[in-house]
Amino acid sequence: MTASVEARRDSVVRQLQRRLDLAFARMRGVHPRHCPVCDTTSWFAAFGHPPRNDARCCHCGALERHRLFMLYVTRTAFFAPDQRLLHFAPERQLSAHVRAAVGVYETADLDPALRVTHHINIEATGLPDAEYDRIICNHVLEHVNDAKALTEIFRLLKPGGRAILSTPVIEGWAQTYENPAITDPAGRKLHFGQHDHVRFFGRDIRDRIRAAGFALEEFAAVEPDVLAYGLNRGETLFIATRPAG
Ligand SMILES: [Zn+2]
Repeated sequence: MTASVEARRDSVVRQLQRRLDLAFARMRGVHPRHCPVCDTTSWFAAFGHPPRNDARCCHCGALERHRLFMLYVTRTAFFAPDQRLLHFAPERQLSAHVRAAVGVYETADLDPALRVTHHINIEATGLPDAEYDRIICNHVLEHVNDAKALTEIFRLLKPGGRAILSTPVIEGWAQTYENPAITDPAGRKLHFGQHDHVRFFGRDIRDRIRAAGFALEEFAAVEPDVLAYGLNRGETLFIATRPAG
């Protein structure tokens, strides 16, 4: 195939994908659900590639994982006004809520184009030891050296401090799948599900989190929450605590 034919084909595929995305955004679920992020009951739209039904709140844009996060932090009173918190790769759906719930809210991202408190690499932040009561790190670990990132999160937390971690996990796999030889975007999309992912975690993600020194708890999407709030069945938040002692 010549380069021009290939470019034309790619352009057609992109146009088709945009039309499909718009169509799916209008495809409402059959039953109304409640969004704990914006406290609204409505029909959620399909979202994702391939599209997931009942995924996106039409009012605030929250996805399943954002709703799971809000359920956990609300039910456990995870945040308090005397806390200092660092939010890596801050999700716009959650930022305002977290900011309002803690005393000091800081954000971090590697991308210099983003407006965050710290432009830093999670693998080596350069921030002081034991600075934070809470850290949020959703859908970052699958992009980076997780051992380095988890060690850094442990170091940044005060003793007794807690982090919420989430990432795609293949629960049917005992072992994480990674291959450092696969570095090109197409290969990463094929092997790891997205052009900038470097692994699919298996169930051993728990061992990898504990290996950094953390005590670990989990919060999974189960019934009746799945139906009430439009969650991904079995999706899990990992709550990692730096031991106080
Ligand atoms: Zn919402």
